[in-house]
Amino acid sequence: MQKIDLKSYTLEELESVINSLGEKKYRAVQLFEWIHQQNIDTIDGIPVLPKELRNKLSQNFFIDTLKIEKRFDSRIDETKKYLFRLHDDHLIESVLMKYKHGYSACLSIQVGCRMGCIFCASTKGGLVRDLSAGEIVDQVYRMQKDSGVRISNIVLMGSGEPLENFENVMKFFSIIHDEHGQNIGYRHITLSTVGIPERIRQLADKGLQITLSISLHAPNDELRKKIVPVARKFSLRAILNACTYYLEKTHRRITFEYALINGLNDSAENARELTGLLKGMLCHVNLIPMNPIKESELQPSSKKNISQFYDILVSKRINVTIRRELGQDINAACGQLRREYGLTTKGTKDTKK
Ligand code: SAH
Repeated sequence: MQKIDLKSYTLEELESVINSLGEKKYRAVQLFEWIHQQNIDTIDGIPVLPKELRNKLSQNFFIDTLKIEKRFDSRIDETKKYLFRLHDDHLIESVLMKYKHGYSACLSIQVGCRMGCIFCASTKGGLVRDLSAGEIVDQVYRMQKDSGVRISNIVLMGSGEPLENFENVMKFFSIIHDEHGQNIGYRHITLSTVGIPERIRQLADKGLQITLSISLHAPNDELRKKIVPVARKFSLRAILNACTYYLEKTHRRITFEYALINGLNDSAENARELTGLLKGMLCHVNLIPMNPIKESELQPSSKKNISQFYDILVSKRINVTIRRELGQDINAACGQLRREYGLTTKGTKDTKK
């Protein structure tokens, strides 16, 4: 029988495991604290648990831990990019960034992605599998331990679509927020999504104070379908209605991400159309000069077009920023590292454990 990873369990789930073993409830808290605060990687390494309980737990469970395959340090800023190897040898990447207000971690949610956005490297090989809650949360622990810093902000903006891995992402929120773990406030967590209306409503119903960030990239459906293929299934209207619902439920301002791609979505007309679309909505637009990737000819917009786009939004009183790019020398664009490293090390995959 395959053993189950305890790192993926919320405190509530650990309580029911402990309960089923006929043990007292506080043992679950101890177990949770040792996994999520002390970041222990074996059940047997938890000294506060009686040997007998450790043995019982070890029969059916284990603690899964990511391995740092490689780390890339930016020479321009303090950004670090991590390539992690999972227990089944797949690779994922995460980024640690330093901001004025502390350290922020950009985490992956799936191995690969099936959304198909034309400018994104993560999706080029399709979706491989979902990450477990434990694999998502361990990206934080490994980066903290390796870098010796405390991560205070989390963005689910690495590879994958978080609303497609909904249950595991909800468990991840519960684990990372728990006072017996890292105790990171929901207001310090951002979830970035391509925009799946039904799931946005489901998230809104949870009433968590996280920031919702929608990857818009176009001001109308026709253009969006060319850039974000899943837009064929979900209209902008349906997404924006779901965003309004999210706003009503959480009172949290929504962020819209807009990657500026040369000659595709960066005209003055596109900017004006965007202001019309977002008129009257409590939101913030984040303009991202597209990061070029090997797999595509697409190029970032010119400086002139970026500032023109920005100025049009400002003139219509839309709250807007141009994203400062960190770690440009270490290939920080979504999914590039995993693909390139995966290709160059092909064949050695099974021998490197
Ligand atoms: N699937 C989710 C989260 C992962 S992508 C989503 O779509 O939001 C995180 C963000 O990075 C998205 O806004 C995505 O569009 C953007 N992104 C991906 N590749 C990029 C690139 N090459 N240049 C600029 N932004 C990119």
